[in-house]
Amino acid sequence: MTRSSVLGYPRIGADREWKKALEAFWAGKLEEPEFHQKLQEIRLNHLRKQKESGIDLIAVNDFSYYDHVLDTATMFGIVPERFHYEGGAVPLSVYYGIARGTKDAPASEMTKWFNTNYHYIVPELDGANPVLTENRPLTAYREAKEKLGIEGKPVIVGPLTFLKLSKGYQPSETDSWLDKLLPLYVQVLQELAQEGVQWVQIDEPILVTKLSDADLTRLSRIYETFAVSAPGLNIMLQTYFESIENYQNIIQLPVSGIGLDFVHGFTGNIEAIKEAGFPGNKVLGAGIIDGRGIWKAPLREKLSQLEELKKYVAAERIIVQSSCSLLHVPVTVSNETKLLPELKGALAFADEKLTELVLLTRAIASGTDRIAKELDQCDLALQALKQSEVRNRHDIQQAVAEVSAQEPARSLPFSERHVAQQNKWQLPIFPTTTIGSFPQSAEVRKARQSWRKGEWDDERYERFIQDQIDIWINLQEEIGLDVLVHGEFERTDMVEFFGEKLGGFAFTQYGWVQSYGSRCVKPPIIYGDVTFEKPMTVEETKYAQSKTNHPVKGMLTGPITIMNWSFVREDITREKIAYQLAYALRQEVEALEQAGIGMIQVDEPAVREGLPLKEEDQAEYLEWAVKAFRMTTCTVQPTTQIHTHMCYCEFHDMIDSIEAMDADVISIETSRSHGELIHSFEVNTYELGIGLGVYDIHSPRVPRVEEMTSMIERALRVLDPKLFWINPDCGLKTRGQEETVASLRNMVQATEIARSKY
Ligand code: GLN
Ligand code: ZN
Repeated sequence: MTRSSVLGYPRIGADREWKKALEAFWAGKLEEPEFHQKLQEIRLNHLRKQKESGIDLIAVNDFSYYDHVLDTATMFGIVPERFHYEGGAVPLSVYYGIARGTKDAPASEMTKWFNTNYHYIVPELDGANPVLTENRPLTAYREAKEKLGIEGKPVIVGPLTFLKLSKGYQPSETDSWLDKLLPLYVQVLQELAQEGVQWVQIDEPILVTKLSDADLTRLSRIYETFAVSAPGLNIMLQTYFESIENYQNIIQLPVSGIGLDFVHGFTGNIEAIKEAGFPGNKVLGAGIIDGRGIWKAPLREKLSQLEELKKYVAAERIIVQSSCSLLHVPVTVSNETKLLPELKGALAFADEKLTELVLLTRAIASGTDRIAKELDQCDLALQALKQSEVRNRHDIQQAVAEVSAQEPARSLPFSERHVAQQNKWQLPIFPTTTIGSFPQSAEVRKARQSWRKGEWDDERYERFIQDQIDIWINLQEEIGLDVLVHGEFERTDMVEFFGEKLGGFAFTQYGWVQSYGSRCVKPPIIYGDVTFEKPMTVEETKYAQSKTNHPVKGMLTGPITIMNWSFVREDITREKIAYQLAYALRQEVEALEQAGIGMIQVDEPAVREGLPLKEEDQAEYLEWAVKAFRMTTCTVQPTTQIHTHMCYCEFHDMIDSIEAMDADVISIETSRSHGELIHSFEVNTYELGIGLGVYDIHSPRVPRVEEMTSMIERALRVLDPKLFWINPDCGLKTRGQEETVASLRNMVQATEIARSKY
């Protein structure tokens, strides 16, 4: 019989009860026993829901107290020395120390889980002496069985993926690390086999990336060892986020099942199966319900995909499953009360996806007729959204098609613009500026809440914002900065702020997803054609400009960042969505220019994270991403100075694309990968205005003048002094006023020292 399976379920809970429990525990408001109890309640509730939905194979051990990669590391006793771990089960204090840092020891690094917005804690292998501290998958399996009678499918991060995501070792040491880890994995699996576990899911998403021959050899070694050591156990070798590379090698591994992503890797995976077949003795985990998207699945289309697969794999050997863990989508649509009916009807979050999986499984097992009613309902829902007015703005579609048919370019090349801008602005060498936001104090947040609740009217709120602007314009002048900003006090979030003002966006009430640890985000949904309704930032910017003789930069979020931090429609390409956003934002750029704002910053911190996993797809993405930025900014006068800002990620391998954006000035975060970025400027020339952040804003510490002086000197060894700007790493909204002012004063002093040498 065909079965259904889920690879993992969101931890956070429909009302973020998981987040709340973690934060209460951290704040000392929840004792450890009650905390454990609370999390168990949440965990069991999630398992129960899946069982009641009728899912056959339910993942256990997908739940976490913070992050599943950290769980894997601590399960193997891999704890950096600075946390003084003394062996045995890793206590919560150490576990959270690694995740969040302690008074004496900085946290481990956190980075994005493949191309998702989920961040995992990077395991540090140096100095570690791996031992099995507890068999977590076994504990989770027993719990589900005892408490709920669920025959769970323990999930665990596979050895190759774990090693590849870890740091603190040389490539030449990979095999010796594998030697240390493999016996521990074997022990885990043997204990599971002894317990009578039927299926275990071993996640190896690394298999969708290019692997070296040495890695392929390691892969065989790992799975051959498992097959020999735990022969009774069915291993589902699970991949996701793309099609697998090395299909031929992977299908030969001695495992019982292989899980493939037929949503994000549909073409590659199906082509491979058609070409090379699928082994008759293995089970295919057919990931055809999108574990990352929020849209209802077109069930008829999914059924015909499954029918296609049945040509190559017997029905009883197919498991209908989500493409990846449902960790990446919100919990349920059912609590949403404010969405347009045609939008709500077309959404499927985690719980709704459970139903889809069960329906498809039923249809495959006992015929399409069994779900005839549901198929019709699905058609109707998708049709309603398709016909919705917001998706059929022919005026916008046509305008965007026309605009994007042209190559977007400023009227003059940078060299000439630079001269014109210098003449106009008369800035000193090494102009100083900031990235946009100033501290969002408790007072600012409270004011916004009062206004949102209707306790404050618009006028009162606007006056409050103006007062904040006054304060900070004065402060910036007094500190001695050259190019000022208004401070972004009216914004909570750089994407939400614009989404709420543009057409084509919707906002859920509960659509949260875990970003890292207890931090959740609630991405907007771009569900229609994007429309510019009216100027969004002109009032505040103009007001700020009226208060000073220094230039004030207008401040916008760029098209790619808005797109990458939203859930987006799937009926048109991401490229088209980016152009629609660009077209809308360009009208804002023009409105600012017309209002007399001569410097406009379009932030693009999220360009890097949209980069496709497959190398061969990257150039195309970068090309249209760059084009969208240029489209947003190309229509202004040569003397209008376009700025951009990037952060969060390592940009050192995409300098060429950054240069192609043709911004007059970029400010870029450097603190986290300082060496690499500087190095890449040694190899690549960069010939536009640039400010490499001279201090890290993520810490409340006030940097000393000399620290910044040395950063400046290093940068000037590789960058043209005439094009160099001085600024912090990123926006200052999370900082306090006092430390911000002190840091900026030091930055201006460091600038003066640098100027005296030129
Ligand atoms: N202008 C934004 C700010 O200063 C940029 C934020 C960001 O880079 N993430 O807050
Ligand atoms: Zn930033």
